[in-house]
Amino acid sequence: MQKKTVAFSKDSSNLFFHILTRCNLSCAHCYINPDQHGRQTLSIDTIRQWLGLFAHNAPRTNLIFLGGEPTLHKDLPAAVKSARQFHFKSITIDTNGFLFHDILDKITPEDVDFISFSLDGATASTNDVIRGPGSYDAVISGIHRARKKGFSCAMIYTVSDKNLHELSQMPGLVSSLDIHRFFIQVIGMRGNSAAGSTGTHQVSKDLWLSVIPEVARTIADTGIIVTYPKVFLEKDEAFTCAGIVADNYFVFPNGRVYRCPLCEDYPLHAYTIRDNTLVPSLPVNETQLFDLTIPEGCVMNKIIQPGNLDYLADGTPAHRIACCMLKQELSRTV
Ligand code: SF4
Ligand code: SF4
Repeated sequence: MQKKTVAFSKDSSNLFFHILTRCNLSCAHCYINPDQHGRQTLSIDTIRQWLGLFAHNAPRTNLIFLGGEPTLHKDLPAAVKSARQFHFKSITIDTNGFLFHDILDKITPEDVDFISFSLDGATASTNDVIRGPGSYDAVISGIHRARKKGFSCAMIYTVSDKNLHELSQMPGLVSSLDIHRFFIQVIGMRGNSAAGSTGTHQVSKDLWLSVIPEVARTIADTGIIVTYPKVFLEKDEAFTCAGIVADNYFVFPNGRVYRCPLCEDYPLHAYTIRDNTLVPSLPVNETQLFDLTIPEGCVMNKIIQPGNLDYLADGTPAHRIACCMLKQELSRTV
């Protein structure tokens, strides 16, 4: 078993491209916030132009098409094929499984590196309470159809106190589905989900550490590469902010471009795309926050999720929160 913390590096870049915010579902933890991210559906010409803004670094950039639900965009196949022509390092479509516009018939496994399906429960009853009726069956059927056509598939499981209990059932399910990668995410109450929420649904440190690494190991034992967020730093581990040492861009249909996903509910974006140019925002924006050093680790976590911090009797933090972009990766050694 190989375990590594995926270090931040300016040598690779991630471009999370939200081409629309519309969706057929309304998941309990959805981070999309149309007031902050826009309601537009980008035209294919705009998508191509905005991809071009990042093309100089394309061979080092992992591109992820997102929404809303990106397959609701009728021109997603054309967008994917354009991205290939720009030679992005990898291309992924993140989907809720409904695979609109017969997307699997309009692209080939050569056009995309991964189709990534979101599933938040090992059973329909748990998943569908979180993600909506029919979403479990859509994902399972979508993966079967995608694998039959030769697409490489991934799965994203967002852990909360509503579905942690079913994570231990996932190794059997994912190995039967023949997927290639499994991503565990930690719930963040942002976007639509934050409005009207009565609790964070986050799991405690002890619960997280007692369940997640073990399940990740079991899934990795089946040959699937597993990635999960570090969340809590060890005492001797250095804190680093991806906003400073990595190259991540979160692009939204209203032209906002963020460097940090935790800032996405606020007008703190580092750039705006205006007239097809990437224009740096005036201070104060997220960039100035990245430079702040606090004993708790991530500044944005302390600002928007202070509930997941504990303090010792002397007032010092019991643990430091890692950057939400810092991941652990497990893979079976061969
Ligand atoms: S989490 Fe994804 S699938 Fe669910 S409502 Fe939001 S955009 Fe749609
Ligand atoms: S999550 Fe925290 S540490 Fe990571 S980029 Fe944002 S502010 Fe920096």
